[in-house]
Amino acid sequence: MKSQARVVVIGGGVVGCSVLYHLTKAGWKDVVLVERDRLTSGSTWHAAGGFHTLNGDPNVAKLQGYTIGLYNELEKISGESCGLHRSGGLILAETPERLEWLKMAHARARYLGLETEMLTMAEAKKMHPMLEEQYFVGAMLDAADGNLDPNGTTNAYAKSAKIAGAEIYQSTRVTDLQARKDGSWDVITDQGNIHAEHVVNCGGLWAREVGRMVGLELPVLAMEHMYLVTEDMQEVISYNKERGHELPHIIDFKSEIYMRQERQGMVLGTYEQACVPWQPRETPWSFGQELLQPDLDRIAPNLELGYKHFPALENAGIKRVINGPFTFSPDGNPLVGPVQGLRNFWCACAVMAGFSQGGGVGLALSQWMVNGDPGFDVWAMDVARFGEWATRSYTNEKVRENYARRFSVRFPNEELPAARPQQTTALYDTMIAQGAVMGDSWGLETPLWFAPKGVEPKDIVSFHRSNDFKHVKAEVLGTRNGVGVTEIANFAKYRFEGSGAEAFLSRLMTNKMPRTGRIILTPMLNPGGKLIGDFTIAKAADERFYMWGSSQAQKYHMRWFEQHLPADGSVRIHRYDMGLVGLSIAGPKSRDVLQAMTDEDVSNAAFKFMDHRSMDIGNVPALINRVTYTGDLGYEIWVAPEYQRRLYQAIMKAGKPHGIVNFGMRALLSMRLEKNFPTWYRELRPIYGVFEAGLDRFIDLGKNDFIGREAATEEKRSGGKLRRVSMIVEAGDCDVLGDEPIWHKGKVVGWVTSGGYAHYVDKSMAQGYVPKELAGETGQGAFEIEIIGENRKATILIDPPFDPEGKRMRS
Ligand SMILES: Cc1cc2nc3c(=O)[nH]c(=O)nc-3n(C[C@H](O)[C@H](O)[C@H](O)COP(=O)(O)OP(=O)(O)OC[C@H]3O[C@@H](n4cnc5c(N)ncnc54)[C@H](O)[C@@H]3O)c2cc1C
Repeated sequence: MKSQARVVVIGGGVVGCSVLYHLTKAGWKDVVLVERDRLTSGSTWHAAGGFHTLNGDPNVAKLQGYTIGLYNELEKISGESCGLHRSGGLILAETPERLEWLKMAHARARYLGLETEMLTMAEAKKMHPMLEEQYFVGAMLDAADGNLDPNGTTNAYAKSAKIAGAEIYQSTRVTDLQARKDGSWDVITDQGNIHAEHVVNCGGLWAREVGRMVGLELPVLAMEHMYLVTEDMQEVISYNKERGHELPHIIDFKSEIYMRQERQGMVLGTYEQACVPWQPRETPWSFGQELLQPDLDRIAPNLELGYKHFPALENAGIKRVINGPFTFSPDGNPLVGPVQGLRNFWCACAVMAGFSQGGGVGLALSQWMVNGDPGFDVWAMDVARFGEWATRSYTNEKVRENYARRFSVRFPNEELPAARPQQTTALYDTMIAQGAVMGDSWGLETPLWFAPKGVEPKDIVSFHRSNDFKHVKAEVLGTRNGVGVTEIANFAKYRFEGSGAEAFLSRLMTNKMPRTGRIILTPMLNPGGKLIGDFTIAKAADERFYMWGSSQAQKYHMRWFEQHLPADGSVRIHRYDMGLVGLSIAGPKSRDVLQAMTDEDVSNAAFKFMDHRSMDIGNVPALINRVTYTGDLGYEIWVAPEYQRRLYQAIMKAGKPHGIVNFGMRALLSMRLEKNFPTWYRELRPIYGVFEAGLDRFIDLGKNDFIGREAATEEKRSGGKLRRVSMIVEAGDCDVLGDEPIWHKGKVVGWVTSGGYAHYVDKSMAQGYVPKELAGETGQGAFEIEIIGENRKATILIDPPFDPEGKRMRS
């Protein structure tokens, strides 16, 4: 065994082998994989081997498309068969809502370049005669679906990696990981030690235990999962004979069953409601290539329904029942990337669909390790997307919820109940008492909207406009016509201090740092010039800056900041998390409200737009920014959590003469839409450049050198490829939700990033990206947006419909 390697990949399941292969493909040869037992001996060996492109996140769907496309290449390089059956797959809708969901998935597939087709049930029945069409209302065909041999595929990855120079040590267990001062690792195994520059945790069923070796508690949990294999079935034999090909894969959401042909019988798996976690505290190292005891009672309701939908199955003999464990994260997507706070420690864990996702995970991780960037938008599977609140028991509750909802529709206005409330501010009970409907924002309960007295504070879930519509409108109008207050504790907040703070921020950010007492808005770029952050920065003193950003990206951003911190200790970063909370007041009367709470002069002349101050407000020491995301006159007031209640009471008292209203996140997002303001992770993501996103005024190419400047200079010269646009949509009773295709002259040319109803200007609006050449096409209805299967006319707006000159926020 080698004693030195550039990378040690821990775990020889399909994911570890894919990571190993992709590292060699990206050019790193001195790479080693260490496997406790033999390849595939975690969850990989007993997988059902199905693959598909369907995923709620378009970027993950794209990576799934990559994985599926990779198998031919692997077979060619390795000479190993992956046992591919490219059968295509049918996804069956049992309700109109599910059909709407499928139509949206189909529309999304158009701009992702994936091949899907909507079918009537008569057409679906023709493709799969076993199904009873009266139980369904429509179907989608996904041509990319199929299945493979898990063993053959894992070996194909492993062999391809070995051909490129990688080494694999089986029957070698990593027992400990010890960090050296230079960021490298001593990988301690039961067969000797390896000193490695990088370590990758691909421990699958043992990912938690490998994480614990370095003090990490990863939010990952294994669940038991069962599938049945039937004896040969005459229906299958006849079908194959008549058609000359296999039956397509099936997903039946109603019975929570997936099904495919296996030899001349069927494989039938379930995601049952009565799901059971496996080894919730610790996975024993002694667990070998073992199966778990089947429990058919647990899946009996699914089978009963499945037999009704596919009666031929009822008479089929059951040859085998497989019950095996595999891992999930709280939201069901993988945990990939470098871990904040650890140097050269990488994760590729919680991959619940290794044969759909393993290739994409390997590609993204290898590029991240080799080039410093994954090369894709991998936010939906970034290990940094969970905070400290994702504890072991939280993970347990969420994973069970996620497993049981695997085949359920998630509506855009649906908040999932498990493990809530997890974090609350001091105002939680006050807000609930005033009718707040709460949402989960990075583990924190945040008001979404307020139900007036006599109205039930509850969302009716739907893809269409729902029961909150008129109440959100009232909040927007109350704010725009007078004054409103909202909680903003769910922002990320940071403090940067030290003699090197300004230079550090200026090296990371595209904009020039502000003068003392002033605020700037600034994007942050990766070396490729793509957007990886968007912040508000205030300079409080020579060596002290405050910064606000997206709450969800706190760990993602901290990881980046720490990677770039100077070694001389001249910069200190503090992430406040819930140590700083806030309230924002906005609307034309907000200055009067602020003035009533202080004896300091807050007139427009004394406290200007984009000013930052530290002052007492209603007895409370606060940091105040004269800026709000509403695009109106307004203020963000930041205080220590123990003062938040007092501050709220002071605001409500001062606001009473002006008819102050509470407003929630939905009203805030509506108001930002009519100002054409973009939002992080919708319009602003690492697949867009700063000019493409229309953030030209927040970049200063002439200041000091900063990360991404070269690429941004080039983007400015070339103009990039895309443009963010804002559109008015001739919508019916549903507004865009995000991820809809944008059509132009009969072709899909772009996609929607977000949208909704802009209540003050009374318009349905969307933001999205189109090729830059089309961004100037402002003709009435020059574009169409496909909303739940219907093309709706859309018109590009150059200026925001609300206060286009920005007078209200400045005066
Ligand atoms: C019943 C069932 C059906 C499934 N069906 C499908 C399907 O149809 N399609 C699909 O895509 N997915 C399916 N899956 C899921 C699929 O099996 C997983 O997504 C996949 O196996 C995950 O692979 P992995 O490499 O991450 O983990 P694992 O396969 O668990 O591999 C981890 C490896 O790491 C090794 N290891 C751990 N710790 C150490 C250590 N300290 N030192 C050395 N080695 C270590 C383990 O021995 C193991 O071999 C199914 C799973 C089950 C249980």
